[in-house]
Amino acid sequence: MDIKERIKQLRQELPAHVKLVVVSKTQPVERIRQAIEAGQQAFGENRVQELVPKFNALPEAQWHMIGHLQTNKVKYVVPFVDLIHSVDSLKLLQEINRQAHRINRVVNCLLQVHIAQEETKFGLTAEEVARLVAQPEVASLAHVCIKGLMGMATFTDNEKIIRQEFRTLHSLFEALKHQKLPANAGMEILSMGMSHDYRIAIEEGSNMVRIGSAIFGERK
Ligand SMILES: *Cc1c(COP(=O)(O)O)cnc(C)c1O
Repeated sequence: MDIKERIKQLRQELPAHVKLVVVSKTQPVERIRQAIEAGQQAFGENRVQELVPKFNALPEAQWHMIGHLQTNKVKYVVPFVDLIHSVDSLKLLQEINRQAHRINRVVNCLLQVHIAQEETKFGLTAEEVARLVAQPEVASLAHVCIKGLMGMATFTDNEKIIRQEFRTLHSLFEALKHQKLPANAGMEILSMGMSHDYRIAIEEGSNMVRIGSAIFGERK
């Protein structure tokens, strides 16, 4: 099946409140263009070196940064990025704000939460998220807007584990929604679910899924 057909099928399957981010990492511009022709707008990339040239080739698309972002690379993505899914420190948020201020933009961000069992240095714990949004410093960052949370479940076939992790992230999202947040933060977007687990993620409250291989085929 071709890319356009897969996207159309997926769009029919997804509930109307769930936004599809097509993960185009490692895919050439030609294949991304096919997705755009199918009406797709939002694309996710996990490396700055890939994101910037793809934006330059296809500026009509909305570009999301979904991978770990180093502070020294922030300046390259801030001019055009639609949403950064992977904010996991105050330092990174401050640098995004600083670069966005220079060009008078407000950059939309999600806080990445570590929910999986796998060891990784990326992502905040639930407590760290709560602490971060409560910091007075965050409220003063006028050029960032925190839109919600992002998380990745453990890479496993065990559906119970995946479901439990998504459920944990969803309850944090709901809890924060009812907490007093600074004016530049709101809990609107819950980005969870990839090719192998997006159905579970949606059942557990996701409203943004990031799907690559289910559209383009397995990456080499
Ligand atoms: C690669 C990637 C995805 C998409 O993974 P697929 O299994 O190809 O759907 C989603 N989110 C992040 C953060 C990724 O790095």
